Amino acid sequence: MNRRRRIYEGKAKILYEGPEPGTLIQHFKDDATAFNNKKHEIIDGKGVLNNRISEFLFLRLAEIGIPTHFIRRMNMREQLIHQVEIIPLEVIVRNIAAGSIAKRLGLEEGAALPRPIIEFCYKADELDDPLVSEDHIAAFGWASPQDLDDIIGLSSRINDYLCGLFRGIGIKLVDFKIEFGRQIKDDMVQVLLADEISPDSCRLWDAATDKKLDKDRFRRDLGGMMDAYREVARRLGIMPESDRPDGSGPVLVKS
Ligand code: UDP
Repeated sequence: MNRRRRIYEGKAKILYEGPEPGTLIQHFKDDATAFNNKKHEIIDGKGVLNNRISEFLFLRLAEIGIPTHFIRRMNMREQLIHQVEIIPLEVIVRNIAAGSIAKRLGLEEGAALPRPIIEFCYKADELDDPLVSEDHIAAFGWASPQDLDDIIGLSSRINDYLCGLFRGIGIKLVDFKIEFGRQIKDDMVQVLLADEISPDSCRLWDAATDKKLDKDRFRRDLGGMMDAYREVARRLGIMPESDRPDGSGPVLVKS
């Protein structure tokens, strides 16, 4: 029985108290939601895949010096993370027009943007996470000027690195959403990459066909969401232990 203290439950994840002070356990659920929870389904196995994909991407980003909250994966659905104070912003980085920017600015979906664009949304479900400017962020004190400098610098490095990583496996990184947290370390405030990076929070298109390999399959009722997530995991070389490529169960290994 699970006796751990639940700290927070979101739409796709639960945070539990961690084994040591300053740590939390991040649990990935199978819930898929869109349009601020108006559409909701349980997609069997999604949490397992997102846990693995996010672990893989956070580890690669840590290797290039991005500070992250990730400590280690604990099991199929859970990872140990540093407890941080979440900065209440969704940071969206875009390379190609899609989704809300296409609608807002009348751009054709799939059009390359002149350069990567960073947008900020204020995290508030009751307001549908409104788009805000750097001046709103400064005026309301959601992040300090130093935090914001760090967030912009880190987001740009994360985008450059992930664009290359995904290109190498035949995937266009159209856009993605990341979140950051603050941690006090040696009396200094450090900004860390937090939350997750997975096909739930990115737009990933096959480079040859533009086939969507992300949550838009669910949002737009395209079907095949799990196949798409599995394809991303397979190309990254990280199929979870329990999954067989053809779903046929255990495979006899000949010596
Ligand atoms: N996104 C997210 N969570 C949100 C809103 C957006 O992970 O609450 C991601 C989304 O998957 C996409 C990017 O941020 O990769 C940009 O989303 P957009 O603003 O176009 O919004 P949408 O069209 O998804 O409403």
